[in-house]
Amino acid sequence: MQTQPKAPVAVVTGASRGIGAAIATTLARNGFEVALMSRDVAALEQLQKRLVEAGGHAWPLACDVANRADVTSALDQLEAKVGVPAVLVNNAGIGGPFHRADEVSVAEWDLLFGVNVEGVRNLCQWALPRMKAQGYGRIVNIASIMGLFGGAQSSTYAATKHALVGYSKAIAAEWGAYGITCNALCPGYIETEMLAKAPAAARERLLERIPVKRFGTPEEVAGLVAFLVGPAGGYVNGSALVMDGGLSAHL
Ligand code: NDP
Repeated sequence: MQTQPKAPVAVVTGASRGIGAAIATTLARNGFEVALMSRDVAALEQLQKRLVEAGGHAWPLACDVANRADVTSALDQLEAKVGVPAVLVNNAGIGGPFHRADEVSVAEWDLLFGVNVEGVRNLCQWALPRMKAQGYGRIVNIASIMGLFGGAQSSTYAATKHALVGYSKAIAAEWGAYGITCNALCPGYIETEMLAKAPAAARERLLERIPVKRFGTPEEVAGLVAFLVGPAGGYVNGSALVMDGGLSAHL
């Protein structure tokens, strides 16, 4: 059984708002020192202030996850300050473009793959050898039910999230022997800015299809992440965990 290093450090990408901010808040409450990563320094500093006022430890780490040099430099700085993270939560992601597959431009495709897939690769390639050296690591990649199923008008997003599920499973198989687990989390519809932008009629149609008749909350996603990176989660490896209120169970 692996033991967590003392004062474990968790990196959470996309921490400036939505699901990432909730994950960072929950992990800080659970005793992690949290590195908050996104491009929005002001939002990260505000969250840092809230977490510190609540008795936690957090650092803003301004970074574009799609920019490999940016990621390496930010994480090198973090390592020099607090050491190698025990936990990496790859949550940063972008949605859209919501149109037909033949209408997706190369630029749109590249943008989504750059953030949703290459961004995760950038962080994992930095973290994996270091986690191996310390004999411990917990990686959670926030995918989507679109990483397991398809959806009209979402071909690019679905392709990136399927890639993330496959990548997570491969890392789990490859690095489990070194004390590192890696899982993909596949939420359904979660109440964040991403979903708030959907037209009211579309939201109503979605709610009709969800057995529990509500959207999920960022805090519920954060709770599952906390389980996966906590002491009880160590035997979950290579899974794609669905949390969607029963949506995908509903033919
Ligand atoms: P939001 O749009 O609310 O937040 C996205 C986060 O990602 C922001 O913090 C943003 O930070 C960050 N981000 C985006 N691009 C970059 C980049 N290039 N570099 C660094 N950070 C970046 O999204 P949600 O909270 O809704 O979604 C979070 C994750 O959960 C995403 O991966 C999404 O695909 C996934 N998901 C969401 C669902 C939902 O219903 N909301 C359902 C299933 C999955 P900033 O702009 O400050 O850089």
